[in-house]
Parts: sequence; structure tokens; C-alpha cells
Amino acid sequence: MKISDLAKMAFLSPLLLLGWIGIPSPADAQASYDVVIASGRVMDPQSGLDAIRNVGIAAGKIQAISPAPLNGKVRIDAKGLVVAPGFIDLHEHGQTLDAYQYQAHDGVTTSLELEVGTDDIDKWYAEREGKSPINFGASIGHIPVRMRVMGDSGDFLPTGGAAHREADSEQLAEMERRVERGLQRGALAVGMGVMYTPAASHWEIVEMFRLAAKYGASVHVHIRYAGLKEPESGVAGVEEVIAAAAATGAPLHVVHVSSMGLKYTPQLIEMVSGARRRGLDVTTECYPYTAASTALESAMFDEGWQEKLGITYKDLQWAATGERLTAETFAKYRKQGGEVVIYMIPDDAARACVANPMVMIATDGMPHNGPKIHPRGQGSYARVLGHYVREEKALDLMTALRKMTLMPAQRLEKRAPVFHDKGRIRMGADADITVFDPATVIDKATYEEPLQYSAGIQFVFVNGVLVVKDGKLVEGVFPGRGVRAPIRTSR
Ligand SMILES: [Zn+2]
Repeated sequence: MKISDLAKMAFLSPLLLLGWIGIPSPADAQASYDVVIASGRVMDPQSGLDAIRNVGIAAGKIQAISPAPLNGKVRIDAKGLVVAPGFIDLHEHGQTLDAYQYQAHDGVTTSLELEVGTDDIDKWYAEREGKSPINFGASIGHIPVRMRVMGDSGDFLPTGGAAHREADSEQLAEMERRVERGLQRGALAVGMGVMYTPAASHWEIVEMFRLAAKYGASVHVHIRYAGLKEPESGVAGVEEVIAAAAATGAPLHVVHVSSMGLKYTPQLIEMVSGARRRGLDVTTECYPYTAASTALESAMFDEGWQEKLGITYKDLQWAATGERLTAETFAKYRKQGGEVVIYMIPDDAARACVANPMVMIATDGMPHNGPKIHPRGQGSYARVLGHYVREEKALDLMTALRKMTLMPAQRLEKRAPVFHDKGRIRMGADADITVFDPATVIDKATYEEPLQYSAGIQFVFVNGVLVVKDGKLVEGVFPGRGVRAPIRTSR
């Protein structure tokens, strides 16, 4: 063995170095890697690799991808299983240990709250550091910032001034100051939900895009309008943000396009593709379900919602009890406040999104406030792999993986270079890896029983540490790290 090889191996494993200098190692003396994932079908959407390989992990990184056997202190037999980059969820509101555990079972290794976001980036990251099984990150959110500045007492989404009052020039300046501060503190993106802040003027929106552009941050936006009724249609909602992106240069990400487009989802997707063909940095995402979900007290259900969305009371399901609503219970629960499931996305619209190679998969999982929430936060990824890829053959496996891994990483990597090492199975990449059985992977979470772990996700590694082993959560390990853009200022 040459000295240079020795140095290389020592770099890979400090334990090995101890062995070479004569200190007995507790592990197998032959071990070169912390972990070896043996004989799996490795699928990497960036290189196109789709072959049986052995993957060696050391110091939290992928250090070998080899057709030849590798030695490791821990060996995972992945025969018959797919070894893929861990899934990156750009849109998950449940940012608690409980939600992270459900997401880990669904193959997610990085969970990001980029739509609503937070109004205090430092506090948000500090609250999770060292306590999460998976990686986490957030945007600076126009919604919570507007709630703070306009004195809105709503929790999570606005119910008062932030929804319904126009900002004066001082309030707008204060919002800009806080959003810019968040960007300087390493927010991954700027979050917006114009539908939830309908009193925000078109100019206010442009100002937020302008700040995002200054910091190279994408704007992840729930557009102003959904559905079919002009002039407040989903098409008009997309027009507003494409115009803001074009006028400011900010990258744009339109969230959950199918719950905005409904029947017109293919048209909305076409507008996004058209903007891309003309050189704008515009992307979009969807979750693989035909029902949406939000807070019943939010501005989405202001006067006129039935015509706009093309639905009525019976299409709403009160999450807490599972009951369908009537005019009476709608009024009662809207006053009380809580989660509602909305049956409004046509089957073929949901399918068109999931199958489209340009549309990323993201969950829009809801905060875990009670036993009844939308199943999307718990089952989206297994549902795409099991239902749409295997059962429906709506898209091929590599395309599906690309939409869950590489594309979300690429969405963020210009702003946050840490994402260059995520979403890929390649030498030197972070060992965020999901190993699943393509023959059995499936979602178990339903509208009736939403708190169910997905099946068939066998092993999940986060920064080289197993958080799901043999399909079961590993308790008490917290290898998840805060993923953040570079910090530009001191506190
Ligand atoms: Zn939304």
C-alpha cells in the first residue's frame, strides 16, 4: 500500500488510522467505512447512474460508489432495494419532532418550511439545532412578518389586520427591513402566501421580490387566486408573480400548483414552462393528492369562495371529526378556527402534475396540532413511488426521484451552496440517503387515519447516521442539521 493510499484511508476513517498506528480498534480492523450499503440498485438522477453498487459512507459523506464489495463497520444489505438520494421537501409546515419522524418514514432527509416561513430566522434554527432526526430549514416569511407588523393575532395564518388591512408606507418599510434582516441571517428563500394576505398590494409583492432578487433568493409563493372564476383565477394569480419575477429578477417558485389551478392546472403549468423557455428562473411543485387543506378561518374562505373554487360546503371536511360541512357548521367552525380538508382537485389535474417532469414533489404537510390532518405530510413521497410510479405507471422511477431530490436541491443551491452536496448519490455528497423497496413502497396515511407511517422505506440516513432502520424509526438520534444560506451580518 502506498503512503498516499494510507493517507486517503486515514482520512476516511479515524478508527482505521488508530489501527495503523498500533492502537487496537474496537471495530473490524479491515473496516474502511463507517457504513456500507451493499448491493443496492443505486439511482442518481444527476449522473443517470442506475446500477447495482456498493456505497461507502464515512464522516457523514459518500466516499465510495463501487461495483466491488466494500468493508464497513456497519453493513446494510440493500439487495433488491433502491438506494436514492434522500428526499428534499421544499414545503412542510410541520416542523416538530413528531412531523420529522413521519417524514423520515416517508424517505425525507431534509424538511423545509419555505412557503409560510418564519419572522425570526435565528430563533427558528436555534429551536431545532441538535433536536432533529432530519435536516431542516426555513424562509423568511412575508406572512408572519406582515402579521407581526400589522398586529395580527392569528396563529400560523392571518385572521385580522395582516389579511385585511393595507400597509401604509411606514409599515411597508418595516416589513422590508424585517425580510431583509432574515435574508442577511441566512434564510433559504422568501416565503409568501398572497391568498392569505389579500390586502397586500401588488406593489408590496413586487417590493418583496425586489429584496429576494438582491440576495439571489427564490420566492416561494402561494399565489393570490386559485380556481376558475375571472378575474380572480389561478391564471391571474400566476400572472402576478411571473410579472414580479420578470420585473425584479427574483427566482420564483409557485407552490402546490394543482390546488391553485384545479381544472386549469395544465394551463398554469404551461405558463410556468413558457416563462422558463423565455429565460425566467421559474419552478413549481405539487403534492400527489386530490384534496387540499388549510385553516377554515383564513382569507381563503372569505365571501365568494364557492364560486372561485367551484365547490360548496359538502366538499369541505372538518379535520377534527371527519364530518362534511353544511352552511351552519361552516359558520360555526370558521368562528372557532381549525383545519379543513378541501376536495377540489380533479383526478387528472393531480395526475398531470405528478407525472410532469418539470413539477417537483413537495408535501405542504400541515402542523401536527391534532390527530386529524391532511395525509400529505406523512405519505406524499411513498404515494408517488407506490401509487403513481408502480401502480399507475404515470411516470418512471428515475423521473420521480429527480423531482424529489435533485430538482429541489438545484432550486436552492445558488442561494445556499450546502445544497450542491444534497439530492445526489456521488462522491463527496452528504450521506442523506433513502433506501426503499420499489415493489412494496406505499403511503398508509389516509384522510380518515392520517397519522400512519409509510411502508417500504427501509433505511434512511441523514448525514451518514441511520434514522430509519429495517423500516423502523431509530429512537434518540438527532443527526439533522439546520440548512441555511450564508450569513451576511452579525446579530
Ligand atoms: Zn399554501
